[in-house]
Amino acid sequence: MKSLREVLDWAEEKKVAIGHFNVSDSLGFKAVVETAKDLDVPVIVGVSEKERDFIGLEEVVALVKTARENNLNVFINADHTYSLERAMAAIDAGVDSIVVDGADKTFAENIALTKEVVSYARSKNTEIIVEGEIGFIGKSSKVIENLPDGVSLETQTNPEDAREFVKETGIDLLAPSVGNVHGIVKTGNPKLNIERIGEIHKAVGIPLVLHGGSGIADEDFRKAIKAGIRLIHINTEIRVAYKEGIEEGLKSSEIAPYQFLAKGVEEMKKVIRERLKLFNGL
Ligand SMILES: [Zn+2]
Repeated sequence: MKSLREVLDWAEEKKVAIGHFNVSDSLGFKAVVETAKDLDVPVIVGVSEKERDFIGLEEVVALVKTARENNLNVFINADHTYSLERAMAAIDAGVDSIVVDGADKTFAENIALTKEVVSYARSKNTEIIVEGEIGFIGKSSKVIENLPDGVSLETQTNPEDAREFVKETGIDLLAPSVGNVHGIVKTGNPKLNIERIGEIHKAVGIPLVLHGGSGIADEDFRKAIKAGIRLIHINTEIRVAYKEGIEEGLKSSEIAPYQFLAKGVEEMKKVIRERLKLFNGL
């Protein structure tokens, strides 16, 4: 069993990216863990503040710890956390990593919040990985008509800001804005700014995280990984697959939940499998 820090080092060495998949319930958890086990790759289960409230923070931490006792390299990330209070609660509950999201605050406010979380995390357990964000990429993981308001080429992360942000906060991972957005844009997701990813990676010297992976072309993913992305978040795509699968399952006359919900798990697994293969170069 490796720690998340060791797995990140391994990803850097292998030039691969670790898949991060958000879940809202134990079925999502099952789909992620069984697929990673099948492919024999490490994986991160993510829970945003609302997903945490639904599945239960202590409950999902316990699920991950149990899977880990069975020798699986699975980790739990408190995704997009907007306040110090919520960050402290997640750290106290035993998460492996936490995303501090101050991306729509001012640069100084973002640094201040992120710094506070880093210092709290370090005081609890130096193995906890803290991720910071700069550059706004939208907030909701759903299918959207157009690019979220406030996302444009001008809001992409500047390498100098990234360097200062990392130096000031002491974070372990950085999530920049490089053409990625949360959600699947009906008119097509923007192209990733691969050159910018490379510049930021060089400027900060820590692994980079790509949020809003749904809707990005395979070739863009490969180039992004080559340029320094070591962790990729997928949410919207598995939400869509889950819902469509359950809708299909409900069409049968089955009344046992493990029958009509199974189709949802199956559909999520298909998406997760393809993404994990791509991210791990399999
Ligand atoms: Zn995200």
